[in-house]
Amino acid sequence: MKKIGLLGATGSIGIQTLDVIREHSDQFQLTSLSFGANVKKAVSIIKEFNPKFVVVKDSQTKVELNTYFPTLPIDVGKEGMVQIARDDKTDIFVNAVMGSIGLEPTLEAIRSNKTVAIANKETLVTAGHLVMEEANLHKVRILPVDSEHSAIFQCLQGENPKSISRLLLTASGGSFRDLTRQQLEDVTVERALKHPNWSMGAKITIDSATMMNKGLEVIEAHWLFSVPYEQIDVLLHRESIIHSMVEFRDRSVIAQMGTPDMRIPIQYALSYPERLSFQHSEPLDLLKVGKLHFEQMSFERFPCLKLAFEAGKVGGTMTTVLNAANEEAVSQFLQHKISFLQIEEMIEKALEQHISIKHPSLDTILQVDEETRRRVHSFLT
Ligand code: NDP
Ligand code: MG
Repeated sequence: MKKIGLLGATGSIGIQTLDVIREHSDQFQLTSLSFGANVKKAVSIIKEFNPKFVVVKDSQTKVELNTYFPTLPIDVGKEGMVQIARDDKTDIFVNAVMGSIGLEPTLEAIRSNKTVAIANKETLVTAGHLVMEEANLHKVRILPVDSEHSAIFQCLQGENPKSISRLLLTASGGSFRDLTRQQLEDVTVERALKHPNWSMGAKITIDSATMMNKGLEVIEAHWLFSVPYEQIDVLLHRESIIHSMVEFRDRSVIAQMGTPDMRIPIQYALSYPERLSFQHSEPLDLLKVGKLHFEQMSFERFPCLKLAFEAGKVGGTMTTVLNAANEEAVSQFLQHKISFLQIEEMIEKALEQHISIKHPSLDTILQVDEETRRRVHSFLT
């Protein structure tokens, strides 16, 4: 029985992680969970899975949750999430919270020798070097949940990492893949939230529309697989059937395919190195799919992807700024305070105003993250 601590239980990945735990309740057990403030969703989860302790975003939510579960231990905030990471009763720490708030809990889980299943890409973008250094030091596995990275991870099983010549990340293109830059000028939040292939949380759905999601994933891939940016390419692939590919030095290309369902990579991360049965979706029917299409990704059409590659190549705190500026700008767009195209403008401005600090410590990362959020906020006034 693998015991699981889960951050972000009420979110899109969190709920699907719970689906996997429920489906394979003979293999997995939930020991602790965190969420933000969605008490309604959390109450039914807690009743069903009976975790030993719960962490919420703030004390007001704690008071509210307490009325439903008077004897349940409830912690608050980032410190509480660190407690989940540290809990010696868990084997796997699943990080499905949104945003760089997941960094310190992840570092703590590694130091406590937990296997880490990571969906929370912002953590790797903001401080991938710290996460990978700690993981190497403690010989802890970081198992990818993001579908592209799970695909690459699967393609690399039994391979020598030295024989990788290229990682090929596929991108569905997001909600606005067929719009011109001019047509993007007055798109609404509601339209941006309609993703053609995946149903996900609000922030990542906007990231997919701006293509920043793929930019974050390029940086995530760089850290997870130790591959230089010059050897990472992105292909537009509308069908989301090939989840990503690896090209090796003998020109062989291995791809991982499947119907788009996040429960598959989540389950693989939980069951690794085993594979468990999966009953939720039909088997992939390539005859029905018929054709797979690939298009070149344009940096002009999707400047956020270019910004991410550039920030990644500069390194140091530049990706911390990229991530924090993006989190802040997307939050402002979701609150209808800025237009869709202002997201990329704000990120670009924040990057231009920053001089990267090499090999930043955790304190430097946290400081730059906070400063960047404040700066982006000030662009509004
Ligand atoms: P959601 O917005 O659906 O869920 C986020 C979860 O985190 C919720 O449980 C939310 O609680 C909680 N949360 C958000 N902010 C805070 C905070 N400040 N403090 C404590 N808890 C917080 O996001 P997703 O599930 O879509 O994404 C989660 C992560 O996984 C992201 O990093 C995303 O990029 C990544 N990912 C997601 C994929 C997907 O298909 N959704 C695919 C690949 C990666 P509450 O509900 O109470 O607000
Ligand atoms: Mg992805």
